[in-house]
Formats: sequence, structure tokens, C-alpha cells
Amino acid sequence: MHTTAAQVLASAVPSQQTAKLLREIAAGRHLTTLALSEVGGRSQFWAPLSELRTHEKGFTYQAEKSWVTAAGNADSYISCARVPGAASALESVLLLVERRTEGVRVTGRFEGLGLRGNGSAPVSLDAVQLSADALLTPMGEGASALVGQVLPWFCVGTAAMSNGLCQAAVEATARHLQQAGFAQTGTHLRELPNLRARLAQMSVRSEQARALLGAALSGFNPPAPAPLLPLLQSRLSSIEAALEVCDLAMKACGGAAFSRHLPVERIFRDARAGWVMAPTVDHLQDFIGRLLTGLPLL
Ligand SMILES: Cc1cc2nc3c(=O)[nH]c(=O)nc-3n(C[C@H](O)[C@H](O)[C@H](O)COP(=O)(O)OP(=O)(O)OC[C@H]3O[C@@H](n4cnc5c(N)ncnc54)[C@H](O)[C@@H]3O)c2cc1C
Repeated sequence: MHTTAAQVLASAVPSQQTAKLLREIAAGRHLTTLALSEVGGRSQFWAPLSELRTHEKGFTYQAEKSWVTAAGNADSYISCARVPGAASALESVLLLVERRTEGVRVTGRFEGLGLRGNGSAPVSLDAVQLSADALLTPMGEGASALVGQVLPWFCVGTAAMSNGLCQAAVEATARHLQQAGFAQTGTHLRELPNLRARLAQMSVRSEQARALLGAALSGFNPPAPAPLLPLLQSRLSSIEAALEVCDLAMKACGGAAFSRHLPVERIFRDARAGWVMAPTVDHLQDFIGRLLTGLPLL
């Protein structure tokens, strides 16, 4: 989330505020994040319900954000709102909201499956006053920045994270099959061909997903426009691989995986989030199908 949000700042309309934040980010002193999902808008992050209001000194912003990773720790949020008087949700603008601005309030805490350290929480933005410096894109160009900047970096980051989970599951399973054994026969789990077959399946699925990310990255050379199709395919493949591989790890390692003696149950829980984080698997399949049939992405 931090990397994607930082990339949005780096590509933003230059301002004194973004220049200062980029220096702070480069020095490791500023954590930023994405605050796109809204109560009511649900997973459809590209269609904000919130709308910016103009007044003589700047803008007023009112929004209910449903999930913000690191909500209470991040110093700033990258948000998306409809432009004043927008005719549709796609007439939007990306905004920078600093967490300590008056009206910004974290209203809950993370109570989820796994991901104990991610701190995703709802955030209320109540009559927040913003200056023109807070506008990160020209008015009406929020949706194209979501597609051109947010989506590519989010796909790369979450695909890499899923590939890391796959790798951890393969390593933990391989280790367990070598170490755990049956006292009655003096044999190890690795001597069971069905468990070796599961490990092989896990390893091949992991490497397929990793190879697809590698291929997508070979064409990703910012600031040149991102190759969206392979990046979307890569996120889809990687998050599905993480679910399949972690599920196989739970089966291959048996009750030991279910307990906390092995890291497998944690990896299994963490892998679930990729599927529901927008763009979800459903959105990704739709986006890929749209690109392949010449339809607009949104
Ligand atoms: C751990 C975690 C961290 C998160 N961090 C952030 C964050 O930092 N910033 C942020 O902005 N958001 C974040 N989110 C929110 C996330 O991106 C989604 O918005 C959220 O998970 C959607 O949940 P929902 O119940 O509203 O899903 P819903 O929108 O209700 O989806 C329910 C089901 O409907 C399907 N669906 C929805 N729309 C379509 C469609 N158009 N076509 C086909 N199927 C569809 C979905 O795929 C899903 O299966 C986070 C979520 C989680 C779980």
C-alpha cells in the first residue's frame, strides 16, 4: 500500500507538498497508504461515492472509508473523490489527505482473519478542509490515474506478496516432510508418495505464478505506460496460486499444519486476503476479459 501510494505521489501534479512528502518518504520518515474503498461503494474502488465540494478558499471533503491499511500508523492517505458536480463516479480526482488534518478519524480497529500486523481500519473524513495542493491529478483524471498508476503497482506488490507466501509454504512443507516421521516404522513423511506429489504440485504452481510475474515485470518500465494485461494476469495467477498452494500445504502437513507448531496456518490465513482485496479475483477476470475483447476497462 505504501509503495503504490508513494508512486501515485511521485507521478502527481508537482506541488510543494508532494515534493516535501517524497523527500520524507525517501528518508524513511513518512508512511503513506491507499484509502480508496468506501462504505457503500464496497470493493468497487474506481467508483467513489464521496464528492469534493469547492469553496472560495479551497475544498471540503466528506467520506467514509471502509478499509485503510495501516490506518492509524500512516502519515497520509491517497484517496479518490468525485469532482464537484460530477455526472458519474468516473469523473474523479485523486487526493492527498494527511492523517493529522482536522476531521480525519480512525473509527475502528482490524478484527480480521490473519494479517495481524496490517491494521486495516475504517476512517472517517469529516468536513476535511483541503487546499489545491491536495489534488494529485487534474480534475476528472482520477480514474485514469487509478488505472495507469495505482493498478500496475498494486498488481506487482500483491503478486509478489502472494509469491512469497507460496515460497514460504513450499519451504515449510518440504522441511516438515523431511523432519516428521512415524516412530513405528522409523520412516519420514517424505517417504509417502502422495505427500511428495502434493509438494511437487505446490512447487510447480508457485513457479508458474512467479514466472508470470517475471514476464510481466520485463515489460514494466516506469514512467513508460504499464503493460496492464500481463500485470492483471500476474496478480490473478499469483493470488489464486497462493490459495491453492497454502491449501495443499495444510493437507500435506496434516494436523501439524493446523496447529501453530508450523508456520503453515499463518501463511494459509494471510493468503486469503489477496482474493478479496480489490481488484478481487472477480474484478480481475472481468478486467482481463474486457481487455481481450476490446471493451474499456471501467
Ligand atoms: C486485509 C484487507 C486490507 C485492505 N486494505 C485496503 C486499503 O488499504 N485501502 C483500500 O482502499 N481498501 C482496502 N481493502 C478493501 C478491499 O480492497 C475491498 O474493498 C474490500 O475487501 C471489499 O469488501 P466488500 O465486503 O465490500 O466486498 P464486496 O464488494 O461486497 O464483494 C463481495 C463479492 O462480490 C464480488 N464483486 C464485487 N463487485 C463485482 C463486480 N463488479 N463484478 C463481479 N463480482 C463483483 C467480489 O469479488 C466479492 O466476491 C482491504 C481489505 C482487506 C480484507
